[in-house]
Amino acid sequence: MTFLMNPLGAEPGRPGDRSAFSFEAITQLPSAADGLGREGRRYGRTGIIHTPHGDIHTPAFIPVATQAAMKAVLPEQMREMGAQVLLSNAFHLFERPGEDILDQAGGLARFMNWDGPTYTDSGGFQVLSLGAGFKKTLAMDVTGMQSDEVIAEGKERLAFVDEDGVTFKSPLNGDQHRFSAEISMGIQHKIGADVMFAFDELTTLMNTRSYQEKSVERTFRWAKRCVAEHERLTAERTGKPYQALFGVVQGANYEDLRRKAAGHIASLDFDGVGIGGAIEKRLLGQTCAWICDEMPESRPRHVLGIAAVDDIFAGVENGGDTFDCVAPARCGRNGAVFTRDGRWNIKRAQFKNDFRPIEEDCDCYACTNYSRAYINHLLRAREFNGFTLATIHNERFFVRLLDEIRASIDGGYFDDYKKETLARFYANGSRG
Ligand SMILES: [Zn+2]
Repeated sequence: MTFLMNPLGAEPGRPGDRSAFSFEAITQLPSAADGLGREGRRYGRTGIIHTPHGDIHTPAFIPVATQAAMKAVLPEQMREMGAQVLLSNAFHLFERPGEDILDQAGGLARFMNWDGPTYTDSGGFQVLSLGAGFKKTLAMDVTGMQSDEVIAEGKERLAFVDEDGVTFKSPLNGDQHRFSAEISMGIQHKIGADVMFAFDELTTLMNTRSYQEKSVERTFRWAKRCVAEHERLTAERTGKPYQALFGVVQGANYEDLRRKAAGHIASLDFDGVGIGGAIEKRLLGQTCAWICDEMPESRPRHVLGIAAVDDIFAGVENGGDTFDCVAPARCGRNGAVFTRDGRWNIKRAQFKNDFRPIEEDCDCYACTNYSRAYINHLLRAREFNGFTLATIHNERFFVRLLDEIRASIDGGYFDDYKKETLARFYANGSRG
């Protein structure tokens, strides 16, 4: 394939042209009796996000290339399987190799030889996870006492939040660092992704209500600082394509806080919204709907860190346009494969002499060319090609799932498609 690497809206001596980023809605899901938005609204839709590095047809799945790389899979292979856009992590790139290297390379896409749109998250999640050691989590166990000082067992607290930002110790080398709204914007501008996220404070479901209230207000103050710094950097860093900035809505499980936080983000000049933070799995769809109730529909909506197939349906139905998830790659490396009939582990002994593909009707490179027996052998022998093939299949599974969901909304059969897909996927009690 040819890599064009020719972003729109970048002219020498001029700030990035903001019109190179926009969202175009195509088909809206009809309201329903059980719709979770106001008056039964269902905010699910198809559309196109136009970015300087190309279009994203939504709803879309965004594979996670944490350190400007898909583990074990090259960008060409990601493109071949239909991935439209990749998400990298600002915190990890700040730690290694450093944002200046990406700036010198001409930005994230060019650095990793990916001819398409990219996203970076703000680093807030990684930095703050150092504080509490919690999981990114839609399925957090919230039984037990609430506390603002919850630390996962066996973890040292490595991050401390104050009004201005977060001080933390690098897990890589123990160095002390500081993140703030301005620092995160500076790093993300140098990394150069098409979509960036505002620096927010991520709380856990364990935090007390009064802490969540304070945190939502603090995130609003940080959001204003992010917008101001983003405008300053956009004007200053001429000759670069426009980078869109999404504000992030926090507020945990509380409807009033989620609505309030969405109103905060809606009141600022963001290009889109990130639905973030700790959400109990059963409230995912409802939380998205609360937020969509309060947001202008012209802005694209990203659901941060989705974990499972049913969560994707809940997120899409209630207004999510894009979804990132580390599960396909992380699970693939451990031998867990996602198929229409659920998630199962290909390293199990029963597949040692099973010469069928992972999934009969999958069109991915792994299923077209290799057997379960061979991939079972590679993964047991810890051969890199085993990671590659399992990851290709799993990423393709999610990319294709979102492609099919998109077709079902445009074709007017989303409800049937959802029912059939979920019934089949969870028929055997599959997790994931
Ligand atoms: Zn496959």
